[in-house]
Amino acid sequence: MATGNIKVTAENIFPIIKKFLYSDHEIFLRELISNATDATLKLKHLSTIGEIKGDIGEPIIEIKVDKDKKEIRIIDQGVGMTGEEVEKYINQMAFSGAEEFLEKYKDKVEDSGIIGHFGLGFYSSFMVAKKVEIFTKSYQKGAKAVRWECDGSPEYTLEETKRKERGTEIVLHIDDDSTEFLEEHKINELLNKYNKFMPIPIKFGTREETLPLAEDAPKDAKPEKITVDNIVNNPNPAWTKSPNDLKDEDYKAFYRELYPMQFEEPLFHIHLNVDYPFHLTGILYFPKLSKNLDPTKDRIQLYQNQVFVTDNVEGIVPDFLQMLRGVIDSPDIPLNVSRSYLQSDAAVKKIASYITRKVADKLTSLFKKDRKAFEEKWNDIKVIIEYGMLSEDKFFEKSDKFALYPTVDKEYFVWSELEEKIKPSQTDKDDKLIVLYASDVKAQHSYIDAAKEKGYTVLLLDSPIVSHLLQKLEGSKKDVQFVRVDADHIDNLIKKEDTKISKLSDEEKEKLKPIIEKVIPKETYTVQLEALDSNANPFIITQPEFMRRMKEMQATGGGGMMG
Ligand code: ADP
Ligand code: MG
Repeated sequence: MATGNIKVTAENIFPIIKKFLYSDHEIFLRELISNATDATLKLKHLSTIGEIKGDIGEPIIEIKVDKDKKEIRIIDQGVGMTGEEVEKYINQMAFSGAEEFLEKYKDKVEDSGIIGHFGLGFYSSFMVAKKVEIFTKSYQKGAKAVRWECDGSPEYTLEETKRKERGTEIVLHIDDDSTEFLEEHKINELLNKYNKFMPIPIKFGTREETLPLAEDAPKDAKPEKITVDNIVNNPNPAWTKSPNDLKDEDYKAFYRELYPMQFEEPLFHIHLNVDYPFHLTGILYFPKLSKNLDPTKDRIQLYQNQVFVTDNVEGIVPDFLQMLRGVIDSPDIPLNVSRSYLQSDAAVKKIASYITRKVADKLTSLFKKDRKAFEEKWNDIKVIIEYGMLSEDKFFEKSDKFALYPTVDKEYFVWSELEEKIKPSQTDKDDKLIVLYASDVKAQHSYIDAAKEKGYTVLLLDSPIVSHLLQKLEGSKKDVQFVRVDADHIDNLIKKEDTKISKLSDEEKEKLKPIIEKVIPKETYTVQLEALDSNANPFIITQPEFMRRMKEMQATGGGGMMG
């Protein structure tokens, strides 16, 4: 038996840990399961490289809760620790055995998946426990099992104990202010939140399973019930697999697994996979934007080595892609730093631009592969794409390949096709391209009809950010001007030979004009009595393009998005 002092400089660091180390007390379970996972992964690696001989079985991690004794136990069948290792790894705070392991085996262990690295995770158990015990036995030959105990003061106890099995059992004696964690539903909630996709099976209790009846079973035979381990996680989530091994159906199934309350199917997915210059895997989905989608809940989830970290990816994923769903898993995102720092971090910037590029590439290939299907999805995806075009220059550059400009008659053009199509008929006297568009087919139908009658092509651009997008397009494409169909100057703009024939005589016009001007505000609208040759409309009322855009921009949050 040995007693000693935990090597920390502060006289009693535990109250500090309890209050400040992590703002979320609930992450203690994630940390302890991460350690159990690491210990099991180490065991598997050592077995693979031949340092451990013989069968290691199929190790699992088990969580047990005893409400009466106020205990939570986290049990693993991993490498365990010798007494010296406990001294080194547990008593020396902020000394990470995980990092040491990686350093030692870095040439042999490729893509280890080891989670720990700060050497602080274990101490998060003191956020909820007034006393912690460790029972552990190392895999090493002849290793003696040891028991460690600490009640939150800097003193600990370390002694030999009886334990036959290899592995570690952590016993948390839950503090009175943390008894909520003794509730089964609370533990289930935490397991589901943080550990749902961790790589080692996690058992929490048991459940009944009904065996299917044999085909030749007698009619009155009762199906047999058996008790099985209740495994709470899926150790092999889709994003860890190779895209070649996954079918469309598998991606959809994984979407349901991620968002069980979401019944709408995603439109398509993007499988991310990078090794260099950083590690990142994941699957992103373009969701169908329905009322059913809860933007605060069904968000992109960020993982590190299959451990859930957060579903707030602000600063990591470009803004416009935060409307996507799915998972990103990267051990290379520095999460121990503040969000504002994240945005300026070079690695994070690289990650953001990689994701942006992948999304653009996927959109290009989807468009090329099945244009019809892409056009059908356009209405659901255009908001995200247009927002991306506005906010990310790299994405804007690439968007020429897939951004669609639909007409009011549901014909879809990419930019080059549109240019080709309207060049002969829709240019002004300086050969500037005049792109006509409507934003509301119903309200503007008479203008649309009139323009179509003259042979013009009218786009339908009706998303909320369209006025910003048009400015961006006008700024970056040479010699292009967008004009809404009900603007006052279409006919003066577009150079053409045909002459206007008014349906009204001069006398009629003179009478009519003051009457109309009386009922609509002259400052914002223009009354034109001779512009149309459509039968339905003897006169039209128009609003200057610039005035309308100004108003719309004020309505959609001003010019803040430009810039
Ligand atoms: P980190 O995981 O970042 O290294 P922790 O404070 O979580 O830091 O754990 C410290 C060290 O204690 C680990 O690196 C590991 O060496 C050891 N350890 C903790 N839990 C276990 C366990 N269940 N089995 C074996 N070793 C463990
Ligand atoms: Mg850890």
